[in-house]
Amino acid sequence: MNTVTSDMAKKPHTIYTQTAEVFRWLSHPARLQILDELRRREACVCHLQTVLQRPQAYVSQQLRVLRDAGILDTNKDGLNVYYRLVDPQIMRLLEEMLGPPKPPRRVPDCPCPYCQTEGGKEIPEKSCCG
Ligand SMILES: [Zn+2]
Repeated sequence: MNTVTSDMAKKPHTIYTQTAEVFRWLSHPARLQILDELRRREACVCHLQTVLQRPQAYVSQQLRVLRDAGILDTNKDGLNVYYRLVDPQIMRLLEEMLGPPKPPRRVPDCPCPYCQTEGGKEIPEKSCCG
């Protein structure tokens, strides 16, 4: 048995394939916009839907890619699921390419608890993304 050939067929993860993967995840305008939003603060799907002006299925699909890549993690708070950026390397790359993160913002007409809450009001105990 030729182990060299079978190892090569498996395409081992080298630093180059790993780096190429990172750029593949990032070479997508919608994903970059999601990551840029999530480095301000964690957010639920409907907030990202409002920011991106895209259907939920589309946003969820991009979030799944980034979560499977280990770039995002989820934080369940009551009925809502919040996505947050957990990869420090991605944060550094975004800062290099897009500049420092902008402060969190409330988006008009966004149904998420954060945008619905102003000046420390109680966050409603309901799901916004259902
Ligand atoms: Zn919102």
